[in-house]
Amino acid sequence: MAPDRRRARHDALIRSLDAEALDGLLVSSRANVRYLTGFSGSAALVAVTRGDVLLVTDFRYDEQARAEAGAVARIEVDGTSVWDRFFKELATLGPLERMGYEAHVLSVHDAERLAQAGRAWCWTATTDLVERLRAAKDEGEVAAIRSAAMLAGDALRETLAQVRPGMTELAIAGVLEGALRRRGSEGHPFATIVASGPRSALPHARSSRRTVAVGEWLLLDFGAQVDGYCADITRTVVVGARASEPQRVLYELVRDAQRRARTAVRAGMSGREADALAREPIAARGFEEAFGHSLGHGLGLEVHEAPRLSKTNADPLPAGAVVTVEPGVYVAGEGGVRIEDDVHLPDGRGAELLSDGLTDLVELV
Ligand code: ZN
Ligand code: ZN
Repeated sequence: MAPDRRRARHDALIRSLDAEALDGLLVSSRANVRYLTGFSGSAALVAVTRGDVLLVTDFRYDEQARAEAGAVARIEVDGTSVWDRFFKELATLGPLERMGYEAHVLSVHDAERLAQAGRAWCWTATTDLVERLRAAKDEGEVAAIRSAAMLAGDALRETLAQVRPGMTELAIAGVLEGALRRRGSEGHPFATIVASGPRSALPHARSSRRTVAVGEWLLLDFGAQVDGYCADITRTVVVGARASEPQRVLYELVRDAQRRARTAVRAGMSGREADALAREPIAARGFEEAFGHSLGHGLGLEVHEAPRLSKTNADPLPAGAVVTVEPGVYVAGEGGVRIEDDVHLPDGRGAELLSDGLTDLVELV
């Protein structure tokens, strides 16, 4: 069992509040609520102040909130209005003036509640205060992502053994999602992508009723979840035949770029420098336009979080981050190859692979 880090997270958040001259923060992002309190339900408002952590939820979560978060937060349950109860309890936490809220999460409707029912406080927009803390993972978080990534690799192997030409993308997605569930994945962090033939050139294809034919690409991009933490894996295989020469050339270009990037990526390099590790060899072969997305993203309680491995991110990658490395080359009308693994960026050491890294070309013959 990993040590309980929640109080250390509160302390770190208080330091961020000090820097922003805030007396407290209203946390309404589900992932941030879970990170700070352990509560995994779908509805809660949390206030973190220098002296208190308050969690207000509704009657559905009475027992669950007490069990998951009772050790670190004062739990209040309201059967009528979580918001009204939140303001009522907030007023009991002592003199608070400047309260932050998560501007990237709150709806316009909820902002109106702050202005009306919450007018006793001075509400200040903040962004990413908790997300910035979440970017650096502790040991327990890394272990959960590793478990999810390993489970995902096993589920993929089980699935590929059953893939045959003539199956629809949706049927293959069904086999894969069943295998993920049987191996203990808590959910699918995003809609499973199974894209065959020319559809593999659509970087964010949805699985469809199309059937995969002999000799075609099959791209599978899918997630798994353990203790709330996500893994995100992509593999591209050839179905029912050996790869053609152009397929092999395209595959090896992406595989080598991905391997280069996932081995050389380090904490402290900028998101842009990390992105270039894969972009340079792909561009050198004339495929710069065909790699239209960024190299990767942070992974954690959410499947897309900080930091970004992209041309536009000049900031250093924080030590402790877990990120995906997923270059892709897409040829419209023909098909595409994307390969994605998950890596941890420890302080002062090289990248640590969390997924299986089995990226040599698989031909399902
Ligand atoms: Zn993915
Ligand atoms: Zn991804």
